[in-house]
Amino acid sequence: MALPDLSRCALHTITTKPWSLEQCVAGCQQAGINAITVWRNALEPYGARRAGEILRAAGMRVPALCRGGFFPAVDAAKRQAALDDNRRAIDDAATIGAEMVVLVCGAVPGMPLPEARRQIAEGIAAIAPHACASGVRLAIEPMHPAYAGDCSAISTMRQARLICEQMPWRGRDGYPVVGIAADVYHVWWDDALEDEIAIAGAKGYLQGFHVCDWKLAQSDLLNDRGLMGEGCIDIATIRGWVERAGFTGFNEVEIFSDRYWQMDQSEWLQRIVAAYLAHV
Ligand code: ZN
Repeated sequence: MALPDLSRCALHTITTKPWSLEQCVAGCQQAGINAITVWRNALEPYGARRAGEILRAAGMRVPALCRGGFFPAVDAAKRQAALDDNRRAIDDAATIGAEMVVLVCGAVPGMPLPEARRQIAEGIAAIAPHACASGVRLAIEPMHPAYAGDCSAISTMRQARLICEQMPWRGRDGYPVVGIAADVYHVWWDDALEDEIAIAGAKGYLQGFHVCDWKLAQSDLLNDRGLMGEGCIDIATIRGWVERAGFTGFNEVEIFSDRYWQMDQSEWLQRIVAAYLAHV
């Protein structure tokens, strides 16, 4: 019998939110997971330097720091504050050895979406040189249209790609500095998904792949995501598209769940591993 393959499995710290970064690292080591995407709330109590030491000492790969973004705002001071915050996120990502900063691009209630998208492109262009110089990539995460009112005016892979195509910066490895993180929760419904994954892969934009599931009855749009296999997303098929597009990165488990955060987190992680092996 083949050994369970967790070599490409990564865990977002937010998935085991009650755990500190150190507990998350220890839990992953015990479960056989070798990569952790770090959310800023998990980083804060340690600071980036100490967090980086903890991750390196455990031999953890760090696909991403979550999250930057939130570029659009009604006044210039707020837009500037967002740029400053994104530059700090890039610095922290470089310090902990994260490959990318994931961008939740932002939206402002009442602001027309085309204007929000214009400000998003402007914001990303403003921080991309710093990311480039820091050796950190920026990954636009398209978000489900249900979030377009206040969270992200970028709802589809295509919209994300159109922004990537405006960004000329390339890293030392030759890859575009600005790319895309595809989260199945946000993009599974899109009839252009297979094509857009192929295009993003061909252009070198595909940087991140997040997995969870879409439950038919959600009690909360933010904090009631499903464990893989609990919902209606054909994750294995989408993973196949992503890999055919040349993606060789991690399958990052990102599950916000008030329900699962109440569980013993070691037991929760065991369930995650079983679901990953069965459904991703
Ligand atoms: Zn995600």
